[in-house]
Amino acid sequence: MFEKVLIANRGEVALRIHRACREMGIHTVAVHSTADADAMHVRLADEAVCIGPPPAAESYLNIPSILAAAEITNADAIHPGYGFLSENARFAEIVREHGVTFIGPTPEHIRLMGDKIAAKDAARSLGIPVVPGSDGPVPNLEVGLKVAKEIGYPVLIKATAGGGGRGMKVAHNSDKLSEALSTARAEAGAAFGNDQVYIEKYLSTPRHIEVQVLGDSHGNVIHLGERECSLQRRHQKILEECPSPALNASEREAIGDVVVRGLTKLGYLGAGTVEFLYEDGKFYFIEMNTRVQVEHPITEAVTGIDIVREQIRIAAGAPLGYTQKDVTFHGHAIECRINAENPVTFAPSPGRVTDYHPPGGLGVRVDSALYAGYSVPPYYDSLIAKLIVHGPTRNECLMRLRRALEEFVVGGVDTTIDLHRKLVTNADFVNGQYDVHWLERTMASWR
Ligand code: ADP
Repeated sequence: MFEKVLIANRGEVALRIHRACREMGIHTVAVHSTADADAMHVRLADEAVCIGPPPAAESYLNIPSILAAAEITNADAIHPGYGFLSENARFAEIVREHGVTFIGPTPEHIRLMGDKIAAKDAARSLGIPVVPGSDGPVPNLEVGLKVAKEIGYPVLIKATAGGGGRGMKVAHNSDKLSEALSTARAEAGAAFGNDQVYIEKYLSTPRHIEVQVLGDSHGNVIHLGERECSLQRRHQKILEECPSPALNASEREAIGDVVVRGLTKLGYLGAGTVEFLYEDGKFYFIEMNTRVQVEHPITEAVTGIDIVREQIRIAAGAPLGYTQKDVTFHGHAIECRINAENPVTFAPSPGRVTDYHPPGGLGVRVDSALYAGYSVPPYYDSLIAKLIVHGPTRNECLMRLRRALEEFVVGGVDTTIDLHRKLVTNADFVNGQYDVHWLERTMASWR
């Protein structure tokens, strides 16, 4: 097992990784920008190294600084968390070249899944169903028109290098395709430095359902069930639940089997998530994330499996601690993402947190790096806390969640707690009747 792990991240996920390491008897190294000198992850880690000024490009994305930090602290592995360098294949490669273990999949698999067209090709060849579309890049309007005519409008234009919902544009008819193609291309170029786009059938009422997997270096792959992440704004997840209210046990088992068979063929190593859209009883692959996800704790709640601990064990060469038969599901879990944002406009709200009182009690978990007096810096993602609630049934989970949201106090900055309070009493949500477009439609009706 590793003696010392460097955590190349910040905020709640840095704490999450630190906690797993601590329980395993592994020393931790925090890295931080000058803006994060007082951050909780820096305070809790055994050692801390400043890696640069506030902008992420000069600190949390600064590969030479992070490697230097690993070298001077003698860390034997690096955990990238999510975001930042977690899906940067070149980073994983460089870490490996320096004789340090990257806690994650192979650079080859990160690269394959990071290119959405290649990922869809791979999924298809592994027997995983995909969304109908261009099956390759769309170089110009002529090709776009031809593809759209074949699959039928509306169509969605997506960036090959996409992520975070950016560079996606819907076209409802051929007149709108030209403009949608050029805006998607421009957005993709600006956001990812790669303006290649492709076309997919735009599904009108899909649910976002994803399957959590773990694969080890001994050829074993298992799934930990699904998560439903349909509550989204601008294609960004706001609240997730597990299991999905839309699936029955046989559908769950069937999609889990398809994913496990596919990823076993691929020889997938580490934790990963295969994301699908689900409509009219059918699953369509959209992408695979080759890292731990923000919403992983709801899976931990219902399976009792520590996903970050498994990531570390797998990277150290150990076989998975569980077979598929060992994975059983208990009760229901929901995660609310609490962002330092205006709950109506979603404008970021950085600043000093004057009061902080997280909820507690049976079945309540809060993953956060906040403390009273902490200043939320303006430079990074606005996620400041995750509230994860577990209960024996969906209904009991909801009752507990409402109670926990009532208790939650974050003073001094705007947060999305109020939005969650409204969501968890909404009749459609309570009935599990929603799709990926539901939240935006519903919020528009509140205005
Ligand atoms: P990103 O990597 O930018 O997050 P994804 O491919 O994972 O992009 O899609 C994010 C979200 O966008 C999905 O959860 C869904 O809400 C929406 N979406 C993606 N593809 C489609 C589609 N073909 N039809 C309708 N909605 C889609």
